[in-house]
Amino acid sequence: MSIEAPAEVLAGLDHWRQLPAAQQPTWPDRSALDAVLAELRERPPLVFAGEADALRAKLAAAGRGEAFLLQGGDCAETFKESTADHIRNKIRTILQMAAVLTYGASLPVIKMGRMAGQYAKPRSSDVETRDGVSLPAYRGDAVNGHPFTAADRAPDPQRLLGAYTRSASTINLIRAFTNGGYADLRLVHDWNRGFTSNPAYARYEVLAAEIDRAMRFMAACGVDFDALRTVDFYSSHEALLLDYESAMTRIDSRSGIPYNTSAHFLWIGERTRQLDGAHVDLLSRVHNPLGVKLGPTTTGEDAVRLMDKLNPDGEPGRLTFVTRMGARTVREALPALVERVTSDGRPVTWVCDPMHGNTITSPSGYKTREFATVLDEVHGFFEVHQALGTVPGGLHVELTGDDVTEVLGGSEKVDEASLARRYETLVDPRLNHQQSLEMAFDVAEMLRAH
Ligand code: PEP
Ligand code: MN
Repeated sequence: MSIEAPAEVLAGLDHWRQLPAAQQPTWPDRSALDAVLAELRERPPLVFAGEADALRAKLAAAGRGEAFLLQGGDCAETFKESTADHIRNKIRTILQMAAVLTYGASLPVIKMGRMAGQYAKPRSSDVETRDGVSLPAYRGDAVNGHPFTAADRAPDPQRLLGAYTRSASTINLIRAFTNGGYADLRLVHDWNRGFTSNPAYARYEVLAAEIDRAMRFMAACGVDFDALRTVDFYSSHEALLLDYESAMTRIDSRSGIPYNTSAHFLWIGERTRQLDGAHVDLLSRVHNPLGVKLGPTTTGEDAVRLMDKLNPDGEPGRLTFVTRMGARTVREALPALVERVTSDGRPVTWVCDPMHGNTITSPSGYKTREFATVLDEVHGFFEVHQALGTVPGGLHVELTGDDVTEVLGGSEKVDEASLARRYETLVDPRLNHQQSLEMAFDVAEMLRAH
């Protein structure tokens, strides 16, 4: 039996159209866009409402300190890199990090990709100017192409279908890998042994030896490793392009409640979280777990008003605040925010994005980040929550499973000169495979010390 949504719920799903919507592309041809959106509305959902509900319950546990979220992936996925190898490397990296963090935190780790839909980007300017030529800014492969030509940069609605198709094949591969044996803890442990046997990471030897002993202890106790061969792995992206997100919003036939079926978890970015804006309105009407990015200028009142809009009844796990303060600011800016939200009483899950407050430009002109600075924000995040007695619920990172050279530092030091070697991101710099694992070991050491 299928339950229908009341007429006012259906009408509400279009209310965002009357509100200011930041960061939307200027599509050259409205009728071409409408044709694509009509087709998208006919395409099958990518996730099932029941999965989003299960994730909400897990995020509620993370908010109480009974689980920990690891959310990672590209700043911007690209069509060109939606290949089996790239996807597998990202999944592997996240699984490896999760195994280390599980040990460090002694908590279940919720695994989530910035994957299978992260194809749209907010930009600081609508146009980019090079040598006196101005063209629309690159807004992600869901909108336009990266090469600096008029043809590439013109927004093309067919790309929304391209994003849907890549998202579908990516989540299909994620499901196949994580249910088909690739997530086997013994396999993941072997990969991590490979990492820590590299002399560059000798400082993690103690922790690595402990994890190894724990594995042998489990084996000796007769733990059924075969039962641990599958894991849940969730998809997420920034809900930026409202036409796309709206076309992927469907009524769950079991409950009559709307869900965004383009991903399990959607977040609203720092640039689109206006209280009376279209993004907050559309997302307030779907029942997925949601995130909101909060930068250093966010006031406690802003955060409480976001709770009023997005989680008025205080449903646990519904709302995650992803703070991205910057390493220099986190220890000053975060406490008042956390205190105000805590005094409200409605639960939120606090997650640290140590990437977006720490972007710099290298003297040679690369957009980069310092590994040590990124880690420092994570440490600051934990210190603040520890001092307040609140719960650090997770980490949100930009990473890839490949050996790129985009972030400076790490034990196998990426220096200024090596940035040029494999700088492949089209938007923000990502931790490479080794830097990602190093972050996991560092955070695990910190967690274990507490
Ligand atoms: C992002 O996550 O890539 C991003 C643009 O972040 P923020 O909204 O926090 O700036
Ligand atoms: Mn980014």
